[in-house]
Amino acid sequence: MLTVEDAVAQILQVTPSGRTRQVLLQESCGRVLACDLKTPHPSPPFDKSMMDGFAVKSSGFHGAELRTLPILETVTAGQIPAQRVTADSAVRIMTGALIPEGADCVVPIERVVFDERRPESVTISPEQVSAESNVLRTGRIVGTGERLLDSGTFLQAQHIAVLAEFGIDRVTVAAQPTVAVLATGDELVACDQPLQPGRIRNSNEPMLVCQVQNAGAIAVPLGIAADRREVLAPAIQQGLQHDMLLLSGGVSAGTLDLVPSELQAAGVEEIFHGIRMKPGKPLWFGRRVADSGTCLVFGLPGNPVSSMICFEVFVRPALRRMCGISPAESVSIPATLTADVLIRGDRLTYYPCRLELTSQGLQATPVDWTGSADLRSTAQANGMCILEPRLAPWPAGSVVSAIAWSPQGQLI
Ligand code: AMP
Ligand code: MG
Repeated sequence: MLTVEDAVAQILQVTPSGRTRQVLLQESCGRVLACDLKTPHPSPPFDKSMMDGFAVKSSGFHGAELRTLPILETVTAGQIPAQRVTADSAVRIMTGALIPEGADCVVPIERVVFDERRPESVTISPEQVSAESNVLRTGRIVGTGERLLDSGTFLQAQHIAVLAEFGIDRVTVAAQPTVAVLATGDELVACDQPLQPGRIRNSNEPMLVCQVQNAGAIAVPLGIAADRREVLAPAIQQGLQHDMLLLSGGVSAGTLDLVPSELQAAGVEEIFHGIRMKPGKPLWFGRRVADSGTCLVFGLPGNPVSSMICFEVFVRPALRRMCGISPAESVSIPATLTADVLIRGDRLTYYPCRLELTSQGLQATPVDWTGSADLRSTAQANGMCILEPRLAPWPAGSVVSAIAWSPQGQLI
């Protein structure tokens, strides 16, 4: 049976990437930059004062004695100075204001003798004066045409701010894929409906919609399809209009597990069916290439925890690739088990855990989990540990690989 690693590699091999679109800066938070950007002008764009104080010419302060200088004017941020500073004069200046010609130093107001009632002069000691102090020269932070942001940057507040600083009000970002979500199963009722005997609520659809949205894609919920070919076929057709179609249920060995055959009938090429993992063994993956575009199709197992974990392990890397996030593969991190955990059987197991960053590093507490239908205990988890089966339990203190279920799929 296919390993998880090989399956992820096969998925990424056929996952399209590189579609872009332009968005306004204020819509770009959480999107991924799709081009390298250079600085269009220097920063700061003019010589500016870093302090509230007095702009002077340092060459006038070579002697040892205190100097009292006339104040030519006051320059506040945004104003253009009208006067030139000489060795025998000063200009009162505020933080962020343009340095007047002739001045090369700003002495902070706390370091001078100055009386607001006699604002025409200031007394300054030469020790407080040194060339370039509190003056941020044009381009001191960065010049024109230098590296600003690289393609692949996940745009957050600090990036939005720097784009705004340089007047970049539109950015080219990776296009968001649209992902159709279709729950299959005769037993399913919508979550706002009462339960009848033998029926269960459709928890996979809202869960998958949330995961899709957290991964930065656009979810298109298609509702519930009954396990009948005449219902499944049109619903699948609808789903194939999107960049990705996620189905849940109907991919195992039951008599009504019609999803693989219906997908094939709809022209979806099977790439693999079945993975050596727990939960998630029945996962089906394929793609349809059409003139209208490629659609990746995941047939996720119906059991809720299987669906959820298969999304994290297989679907999220594909969405990361489509959204321009690098690396596309989930990053696993070492974590220390806080309790024994027994892994039976012969498949690699993704075990729901509570991950906590402590002063001793990342710790993973396995939740009290009874298996792939156990959503309630999965809700106590925020990630999963990857564990090989063993005859004896994995003892507390073992360092294992863990993957966080954070919105972007990485601990960042
Ligand atoms: P299946 O993969 O269709 O054989 O379903 C496996 C198990 O998952 C069955 O117990 C189903 O009732 C359950 N299941 C299937 N689809 C969903 C769903 N959308 N929400 C919650 N449970 C589901
Ligand atoms: Mg079913």
